[in-house]
Amino acid sequence: MLKEYGAMFVAQSVALPSAVVFKDEAEVSAFQTSVQIAAETIGGVTVELQTAAINALRKAVAEAKRKNLSITPRGATSARRSYRQTVENWKSRVEPGLVFWVEKGRIAPREASRIKALSATEQIREIFRLEEQGIFFAKGNQKTIIYSVAPPGASQHISLLALDVAEFENPQVRELLARHGWFQTVISDLPHFTYLGVRESALPNLGLKKVIEVERAFWVPDL
Ligand SMILES: [Zn+2]
Repeated sequence: MLKEYGAMFVAQSVALPSAVVFKDEAEVSAFQTSVQIAAETIGGVTVELQTAAINALRKAVAEAKRKNLSITPRGATSARRSYRQTVENWKSRVEPGLVFWVEKGRIAPREASRIKALSATEQIREIFRLEEQGIFFAKGNQKTIIYSVAPPGASQHISLLALDVAEFENPQVRELLARHGWFQTVISDLPHFTYLGVRESALPNLGLKKVIEVERAFWVPDL
């Protein structure tokens, strides 16, 4: 999980999460109430992020406007998320995955019901155990679930350092966001940007490495 989502731990001028995976709602709200948060309404959607991240985003949005580009949130839950929302996102992938594998005869119906009823923490373990046997849960059921959704408590959105951007396909938008400290750090999550608060040239010295995938640069922990 550190490898997949850990780039945010090098972010500057913000509060860093106390864990790679928050274990419950209490831990998440304790963290979220301890940090400086600011809100901004962009394209009709109000997003909440750590203050330094919002300030950089405001500058990026203003610069985009001057260049006839736009940077807007991709939907209502594109920034701040609670623990519960990360559980719901996770389940929205696990449950259809279980149906798929039951239909394929790879998981018995009773086993699927048992897994469905587990707590989030226990379920993460079970899903990864199944994936070791080639029973994958990402959309399309051919890759690991973490290509589609972060396990409950592991999302960078909980740490208020991530934004899903509607215009993620536009290379000019990606370049502009990067100049304002917003980088892509989760390989395969194309709309997802992470606030790191530094110039791109500083990232290798902070322990990140650049990986090129789908014609984009992702900065990931160099582990
Ligand atoms: Zn995201």
